[in-house]
Amino acid sequence: MLNEEAIKRLTEIVGSDYISTREDVLLTYSASASIGYDATRPDAVVRPESTEEVSEIVKVARKYKIPITPRSGGSSLQGEVIPSEGGLVVELLRLNKVKIFDDLRSIRVGAGVTFGSLDKHLGKKDLWIPIYPESSLVCTVAGNVAVNGAGPGSSAFGSIAEMVLGLEVVLPDGTIVQTGTEANPHAPGPFLRYAFGPDITGLFIGSLGSLGIITAVSLKVFKRIHNFHYGTYGFNKQEQAEKFLVELKQQGIQGLFVSIYEGRILGFFLDMLGDEYGIPKREWPEFTVSLTLGRLREDQLQSDVNLTAKICDDLGGNVIGIPELPKGEWEDRMRTFARSSYAHGWWWRILYHHQTPANWHMSVQEIWKVMDKHGLLGHTAGFQSGHSSYNFYPHLYFDPEDPDEEQRVRDAHAELSKRLFKTGAVPFKLAPYWVDGVEEMESYMRFIKVLKSSLDPDNIMHPGVLGGI
Ligand SMILES: Cc1cc2nc3c(=O)[nH]c(=O)nc-3n(C[C@H](O)[C@H](O)[C@H](O)COP(=O)(O)OP(=O)(O)OC[C@H]3O[C@@H](n4cnc5c(N)ncnc54)[C@H](O)[C@@H]3O)c2cc1C
Repeated sequence: MLNEEAIKRLTEIVGSDYISTREDVLLTYSASASIGYDATRPDAVVRPESTEEVSEIVKVARKYKIPITPRSGGSSLQGEVIPSEGGLVVELLRLNKVKIFDDLRSIRVGAGVTFGSLDKHLGKKDLWIPIYPESSLVCTVAGNVAVNGAGPGSSAFGSIAEMVLGLEVVLPDGTIVQTGTEANPHAPGPFLRYAFGPDITGLFIGSLGSLGIITAVSLKVFKRIHNFHYGTYGFNKQEQAEKFLVELKQQGIQGLFVSIYEGRILGFFLDMLGDEYGIPKREWPEFTVSLTLGRLREDQLQSDVNLTAKICDDLGGNVIGIPELPKGEWEDRMRTFARSSYAHGWWWRILYHHQTPANWHMSVQEIWKVMDKHGLLGHTAGFQSGHSSYNFYPHLYFDPEDPDEEQRVRDAHAELSKRLFKTGAVPFKLAPYWVDGVEEMESYMRFIKVLKSSLDPDNIMHPGVLGGI
């Protein structure tokens, strides 16, 4: 609970326009894009303008033992940004500065900068960050680093962690730290993450805001790619499609967004969205690989296109061609999976996880087993997400008017995380449901607890979100 004294001090820090305890405002901040999760009302919301203000806010929270939830775009889907009852939401969207370091091929952005607005800045200089979440218009770079997100572009470049060169973080005692080369105030800017000993930057990536508040992110930027090829490739057997993904990587072919779809799941999506994306109706094979290739130079692209067709052929597949599917995924960041459910008014629980391309079928099998057992509708979609990983984001749908169905989704969701863990899949985000009942992670979780309690002995920084700690 926030007492009057704490509210008074917070008001002095941010100014009366940037603090609210109004019911309607608190209602907004009690929820997020995580529509399958219960909303929880905080006691107040503050909207600081600078890192120094964030630091002062954290000191007040520490003094009065107020739980804090850092919040940026509020677009996370697994309940990560739902605040603690009676806590304080620190919304960071006013930290919106962007600095480009041309010679270093890097940038530094404030915690409130969204991918969408950043892309406008970078586009003017023919630059880009090649990883771009499908929620880019609302999702911030800092929020994506806090969850270690992945999205279109990740098939070639990995998760957002691979782009990070350094972070500015406010620790749970209010101390401001800078990691990476910028820890040296004389450095020309961000140019190397692994400086000054161990990878302190990594501690905060994927920490879900539970170890500190990220106030600025420094990232690599690249020359923008303008040469693309969109293709679809059909296979009768799942092993062929899996091998195709491994082979593309082995040959250094730059697939920016690569997905395997089961025929029945593709049919399910395209019934809903196919017309909108101009995708011709056809009988899809058992397994379709949807592929966006992108290269800086046209000759490189052509070489990739030719070799891709040959690999497909050698594996016994066939080049379908239809480019509208991958083009929609890439250009529109298609939002296929989310949009299909929004379009139909379903709510859902999602279970982000990383599998390997060669074990793609293991996740698919487990998802179907759980959906069938609990009598649920859902999907098995995902995309290749780096050197050897494949990011699944199955949704389990429910009708929000049907409490019985919602409970079945909750049960199925909890069961699926355990089943997937046994297949060797790893959590994309260390949400509580991943560790409940997964005893094999005991020592890992103990270590995280030690880190958390030494940085945050009063456990004020977004308690409960990181594996339930
Ligand atoms: C339609 C749709 C499509 C999506 N597609 C993708 C996708 O392609 N890839 C993907 O990765 N995700 C995707 N998401 C999920 C979501 O956009 C990501 O999780 C995103 O990174 C969240 O960023 P945000 O700024 O909205 O963070 P929030 O939702 O505000 O916060 C997310 C988490 O980070 C913490 N946090 C936020 N800001 C900070 C900070 N400055 N310092 C410390 N901790 C912080 C919060 O406490 C919370 O735990 C999608 C969501 C939607 C609705």
